[in-house]
Amino acid sequence: MTVVGIDDTDSRERGMCTTYAAARLRERVGGRCLLVRLNPAVPYKTRGNAALAVVTDSDPETAFDAARELVESDAELADDRTNPGVVVASGSPADVPPEVAGWTDRAMREILSPEAARDICERYGYQTAGWETEQGLVGALAAVGAERAWERAGVDTSYEIISYRERDRWGTDRRVDADSLFAAADAHYPTVWDTVDRTTGDLVAVPHTPGPVLHAIRGDDPDATRECARAVDSEAIERRCTFETNQGTDAHLASGTLETARDGRSYRLDATVSTAPDTREGGHVFLELADGEARLNAAAFAPTGRFRDWVRALRVGDDVTACGEVTDGTVKLEKVAVRSLRETERVTPECPECGRRMESAGRGQGYRCRGDCGTTASGKVDQEIARDIEVGWYEVPPHARRHVARPLIRGGFDAPVHPES
Ligand code: ATP
Repeated sequence: MTVVGIDDTDSRERGMCTTYAAARLRERVGGRCLLVRLNPAVPYKTRGNAALAVVTDSDPETAFDAARELVESDAELADDRTNPGVVVASGSPADVPPEVAGWTDRAMREILSPEAARDICERYGYQTAGWETEQGLVGALAAVGAERAWERAGVDTSYEIISYRERDRWGTDRRVDADSLFAAADAHYPTVWDTVDRTTGDLVAVPHTPGPVLHAIRGDDPDATRECARAVDSEAIERRCTFETNQGTDAHLASGTLETARDGRSYRLDATVSTAPDTREGGHVFLELADGEARLNAAAFAPTGRFRDWVRALRVGDDVTACGEVTDGTVKLEKVAVRSLRETERVTPECPECGRRMESAGRGQGYRCRGDCGTTASGKVDQEIARDIEVGWYEVPPHARRHVARPLIRGGFDAPVHPES
């Protein structure tokens, strides 16, 4: 058996997609494909930071030659941000050395160099080919280690079925019948998820980029996901490919604390809301989180749409688990678990006679009626807060979700869920 890792063949402006190169490679050498989402915070990514592996029974030399040929013919090498890498390992992907699986784990959370990837490849006798800066070797090696890394960490992988366009249609408007996509998505929900956004009407599975993907359907079960893809009425499909993937798993989130959270990483953070949510210019919602002395800003940005209503419903004193990437000292919220809600607040009492809010009777003197009822009160009183949010998990809508983010509908959460679909 042979594992071929391949990455960074595409270009933001010119199109292509490394999944397409992997699909073509699989057709040439046989086998199956893995689609690995790596650290969403890396600056080199084109879009979703994907790396690909083809697991094949072909011998390493044949697979290596085929992969190099495909990169030469398909990669957008004219784009100076396209820096392909190919790594070929002989043996089963379940048996790669722990250091290689460890590389995959690190590539989820850290920023790594092609030189370090090359060192590991040399140590284990892997064949490599790199173009330009060779940054693609980072992802290619991470794809080689993915299966073992997922197995070790107990990642419950999902599936993506990508349907590709005829080459002469690349860059033109896509023809996908929305009604058939919605019907197929409904027929297979929730086994198949993130296909459409039922509130905004967005076709989440249909990209807007110039590349070869017509639609990409995601789900827990490969057969149901394929059936869903086949039920969509559209322009001609050139080819389809099934990928096993860590999409929808939250594999990017590490347990962290406000004190130790660092920029460029994604976390689950237990904290207490310490400032009232504030909607600023552009519709972004900000609040501050506290844990002991530590403080961290959190934001629900405008593209997260209706998720911001839940964030706005938070109050000072609520206990939460905040999930997302930390950038410039701010956690960009993808998901929030409300652990406990503050149910009361301390307020100035009302006069029991006239019902008006009392006024201070002087420093340390309590409160008195501001009219002539003559009533007094010794201090502030508890008042119930009407809450528009419940305990449990809330998430951004499908159109705003990161590939690697686990949709609540997939289950596996430690509190009630309030899924967006
Ligand atoms: P697409 O939208 O088609 O999936 P992409 O977002 O996957 O594109 P690439 O063109 O593959 O983007 O570019 C990502 C680059 O970043 C690759 O060269 C990859 O090797 C590299 N890379 C991935 N993870 C890391 C990491 N953790 N540290 C450093 N480089 C990384």
